Amino acid sequence: MAESVIPFPSKTFGVTIEKLNKSFDGVPVLTDISLQVKPGEIFVLMGPSGSGKSVLLKHVAGLEQPTSGRVLIGDFDASDPLTRRRVRLALVFQAGALFNSMTVYDNLALYPREHRLGTEAQIRGRVMHALQILSLENAVKQFPAELSGGMKKRVAIARALVTEPQLLLYDEPTSELDPVMSATITEIIATLREQTAVTTIVVSHDRELAFAIADHMAIIMDGRIRATGQVADFKNSTDPAIANFLNPVIDLKNPRFKQLENDHE
Ligand code: ADP
Ligand code: MG
Repeated sequence: MAESVIPFPSKTFGVTIEKLNKSFDGVPVLTDISLQVKPGEIFVLMGPSGSGKSVLLKHVAGLEQPTSGRVLIGDFDASDPLTRRRVRLALVFQAGALFNSMTVYDNLALYPREHRLGTEAQIRGRVMHALQILSLENAVKQFPAELSGGMKKRVAIARALVTEPQLLLYDEPTSELDPVMSATITEIIATLREQTAVTTIVVSHDRELAFAIADHMAIIMDGRIRATGQVADFKNSTDPAIANFLNPVIDLKNPRFKQLENDHE
């Protein structure tokens, strides 16, 4: 990554989640979630599929409203539309959500054009800067379909950087990537935080990512926080559910799928 990168403005925000509950049509998905993310740290939220990770992240991004409780970004309520004007926040979606009919350049320029964040020349400067940070200058004229899975994820991250975020949220940034590509994305997430001090929340079930870069982490199961702490706390966890999640032992003599009838997860 280039050394000449200009850091984003230094203001960073912590995130406070207070007794958050969320139900869809009366069905609880998040129950009594309280978490603290410090300004400038990398916080990794792990948990099994369907445990509520994406729904929780959407609350931080202001895309879901709590049933009760609240989410604060600094002192601002995440559910208040005005918060998006006070905090530059970017969410990197799991699937990348790139527009297939547009070049990489136009995908990155879309948001600043729609929000009139500058002249075309200024937008070009921002877009090229973001592409440079992720070593993607050569992909500028390509279409998403021409890119590998790892490149698409990098483009999705570059698109988030165009807004010079103060709070950067990633939903499963390494899903569907091979181990080397996952390591690359993990390095990018850590490098961006080093260079910009951007507060970073990563939702992932990638244990290698969490153990390599998390300042703090949490595990959510069935919509409840099972544990929070630092990486070492999780590596040494005596909670059988956490040990089984982080280090599932493959036991061919007593396979899980035959236990499911009696012992449902
Ligand atoms: P994951 O941890 O895999 O990201 P999600 O946060 O996507 O899990 O989903 C948690 C639960 O909430 C799932 O059971 C999912 O079906 C449900 N859910 C998510 N979004 C909605 C929605 N908009 N309406 C109803 N149920 C939803
Ligand atoms: Mg999800």
